[in-house]
Amino acid sequence: MKKSYLIICGKLFDGIREELQPHMEILVEGNKIVSTGRNLSRPKEVEIIDLGHLTVTPGMIDAHVHGNLMRWQETDNILFQSEGYSTLAFLHTAQRCLERGFTTIRCNGMGPGGYGIVDVREVISRGLFPAARMNVGAHMLGGPGMPGDMSMYASTNEPLSDFMQIKTIGSGRDFFRDQVRREVKYGTDFIKIFLSGSFLSPDGGPEISYLDDEELEIIIRTAHDLGKPVTAHVYPPRMMKKLLEFGIDGMEHGALMDEETARTFEKQDTYLVPTFSPFQDVIEGNDELVDMNTEDSRMKLRKYAPQLRESREIIRGSQIRLGFGSDFCAVHQPYESWYEYRSWMRSGMGAFRTLKAATSVNAGILRMDHLIGTIEPGKLADISGWHRDLMEDCDALSECDFVMKDGNVYPAGNTVVDEYTV
Ligand SMILES: [Zn+2]
Repeated sequence: MKKSYLIICGKLFDGIREELQPHMEILVEGNKIVSTGRNLSRPKEVEIIDLGHLTVTPGMIDAHVHGNLMRWQETDNILFQSEGYSTLAFLHTAQRCLERGFTTIRCNGMGPGGYGIVDVREVISRGLFPAARMNVGAHMLGGPGMPGDMSMYASTNEPLSDFMQIKTIGSGRDFFRDQVRREVKYGTDFIKIFLSGSFLSPDGGPEISYLDDEELEIIIRTAHDLGKPVTAHVYPPRMMKKLLEFGIDGMEHGALMDEETARTFEKQDTYLVPTFSPFQDVIEGNDELVDMNTEDSRMKLRKYAPQLRESREIIRGSQIRLGFGSDFCAVHQPYESWYEYRSWMRSGMGAFRTLKAATSVNAGILRMDHLIGTIEPGKLADISGWHRDLMEDCDALSECDFVMKDGNVYPAGNTVVDEYTV
């Protein structure tokens, strides 16, 4: 028999309405929400869960997670991770995310060559491990030396570096057509392109391009032919314009956004996952935290600080469809998604825009909006509860009190303080 729960909410944010509704109830049967409202009739044998002291939301979604690290301090050693270690790290991250009220994560793969990440998604979806549901971009596609090409760390030794370079890194139309088809064959949910350089990797910086027009066009077209969406790691407006022209579904970062490009995003309803957190410290001038990055990253972040601040304002003032993604592979652990809430709130994004980004908007970005992202009859019962004030408290998501995923209740909380976490 299906188990049923009646959840009594202190306040409810349903993922759509920009209000916190008092005294709402949610009836869950099996893995689905069957009704919401006030004074719902109680079926026989229903179990009451009283969350009258909490604000209840849809299970949160983080759209940009690099889960192949157990701890961010391992980033420099990523090259030496085995497939097995990386696979376990994905599971570890998904477990820690679930405890923290994030019931779904979109993984922008960065691990070794294999498809262990797809296996992790599958065993979680079969209910074999209590962990956040995963949406998977298995590997990054781009040119040699791009950010995420971890063989760069061995680039003083050509044979060694070549040996360690993953299969999805290369050049040319035929190469990328084949790689897209392979990624889809082995189970990726979306294709992730690495177009521009980066602030955090040992590469030529955010204005360098690692793919030409022909390569971009074939990647996007082949993925679309196979029914898969495409996103790209990108910073400069000229590269974002190119991607918009080729009909990409969305982009990550966009941290050097200008007004003209923002208008094209709006017109085409292309989404952007702006990953505010990795830039928050430099935008706020917090030197102590900026200094925790590598020397190369520190220099890049400081050089672009004025432009990063200006672009943040452009993104904030725009109507771009913004998704919520934390992108931690330095300074914070990959499962500490709540820092991204802090960054959005401190940037003046407004609580409801932030909450919608982390729920209904992200569900659309993951193409899972028929299943998750809102609290409505027919949706999967992914529900989180929070005791802090989501409207005013920038750190409200740092303490999760209740988690349900697929109609099952899991232990909530992030009381384990990591000794390296600031
Ligand atoms: Zn990333």
